[in-house]
Amino acid sequence: MQRAATVAIVFAPMISLQSYVQGRWITGTGDPKTLHDPATEAVLGDVRPGGVDFAATLAHARDVGGPALRALTFAQRGELLKALATKVHEHRDELIEIAGKNGGNTRGDAKFDLDGCSGTLAFYAQLGAGLAAQKHLPDGDGTQLGRTPRFWGQHIFVSRPGVALHINAFNFPAWGMGEKMACALLAGVPVIEKAGTPSAMLAFRLAQLIVDSKILPEGAFQFLPGSAVGLLDLLGPMDAVAFTGSSVTGALIRGNKNLVARNVRVNIEADSINPAVLGPDVESGGDTFEQFLGNLAIDMTQKAGQKCTAVRRILVPTDKVAEVQEALVERLRAVRIGNPLDGDVRMGPLASSEQLRDVRAGMQRLQAVSDTILGGPAAIRDQGYFVGPTLLCAKQADAAVLHELEVFGPCATILPYDGAVATAVDLVNRGGGGLVASAYSDDRTFVESLVHGIAPWHGRIWLGSEKTMGQALGPGAVLPATIHGGPGRAGGGEELGGMRGLHPYMQRTAVQGDRAVVDRAFGRGQG
Ligand code: NAP
Repeated sequence: MQRAATVAIVFAPMISLQSYVQGRWITGTGDPKTLHDPATEAVLGDVRPGGVDFAATLAHARDVGGPALRALTFAQRGELLKALATKVHEHRDELIEIAGKNGGNTRGDAKFDLDGCSGTLAFYAQLGAGLAAQKHLPDGDGTQLGRTPRFWGQHIFVSRPGVALHINAFNFPAWGMGEKMACALLAGVPVIEKAGTPSAMLAFRLAQLIVDSKILPEGAFQFLPGSAVGLLDLLGPMDAVAFTGSSVTGALIRGNKNLVARNVRVNIEADSINPAVLGPDVESGGDTFEQFLGNLAIDMTQKAGQKCTAVRRILVPTDKVAEVQEALVERLRAVRIGNPLDGDVRMGPLASSEQLRDVRAGMQRLQAVSDTILGGPAAIRDQGYFVGPTLLCAKQADAAVLHELEVFGPCATILPYDGAVATAVDLVNRGGGGLVASAYSDDRTFVESLVHGIAPWHGRIWLGSEKTMGQALGPGAVLPATIHGGPGRAGGGEELGGMRGLHPYMQRTAVQGDRAVVDRAFGRGQG
């Protein structure tokens, strides 16, 4: 396979991040955007927009990367993913350090991101292996379409000869890129990965590793650390955009005139005011109560609360509010905050000065309708973009701002409710559509009614009970076997979910004709 020269892998201080396009590394030509260590505010490097010929970048993916990927079977593409997963894992320690320096990640935060990346790549590698030598995927069973079974129909999925543009958020530079890449590459579609700027150093180092490893055919992977503005205007009907970020940017992308006019597939993963519901049956001190508190404390402080799946609204029966406040405050006070490179630290800073500004402003807006139980927007250190874990308690659980404003930091609000399932359903669904709702109860009737009431508004519902104690990661973890995404303000998108994750990059086609032809070539077990 033909390969262009790549730069030597270097990760030096004061680095100017480059794009990898058309088989070479390119430094941008526009005004630099500075990258910082959010714990010390030290300047680490920059990203410069411009200098990339977007039309040529797309052509390189479509004409060079796509055909090379589609010449491989699913199983062979799965092998590539397996090698990528191994590569990420081999460089784990170095990558953890970068995530600490440029992303404000503690070691635990960074592992969550990096192991999520390699784990998802490995998961899809295994799915690919299970598909053996197929080049298309039968979708369900065939069906009779004519007067007799002779005229037969079968749905199949085939790879689309386009490019996947992945626009990633700053908070998961590794996992975000890895999970999107895994699905598109296994589907046979080349990727262009655009990193979120504030934490782009980790994504850049990953890109260096991927390119230098020569695991992927040339053109299958291209990388942009800077702006992708203008690229959307050049996409066509076989291409796909998968975006992760705020609902405001998501709406901008969905409304792009070219994407609308050419019916380019767009998947939006946006923000969500995720709820956690404590059932009226749960007594303090029991396993279900402890699980509830433990997951809340993790969600509020992991990645300093900068997780799209973190709990923002905590529904607690009125008679249990005082004990929940006391127990949660105790756990949050025990979290050591500081420079994430210090091994004892459990919560680092926010990722950027813009994040700090937005989180402080958002906390103030929530405080206007709540009592402050712990923390608040005040500075907790002289240096760095730090804010403390902040627990609020709503004066009025139905105040609109509590259900509409995402404060993307270590902040959540208790919403007292009367313990009735109908009240819980009403409050939860005021979020306008979410990524994940969690509920903690051992009352099966309560749980069943709650799930029926909130399922249409959520992509995922996570149920905690005595039986699930210690069994699994909490609701904040996105697992590749089940879908990630949600309706309404969460973007209306869907990613992952096993084989479902490949569908955005493939065309579903109904093949109709003589059963002997259709079934033999395209039925289940053929391919
Ligand atoms: P953001 O400001 O919306 O940016 C997301 C991405 O879009 C970045 O790569 C950004 O690039 C890019 N972008 C911005 N304007 C663009 C435009 N006009 N055209 C093309 N690309 C554009 O979000 P963020 O601050 O990075 O991430 C935090 C948000 O993401 C939170 O609201 C969080 O809830 C959400 N999130 C959702 C999920 C999910 O799976 N649903 C996961 C993680 C985060 P630059 O960085 O260069 O501006």
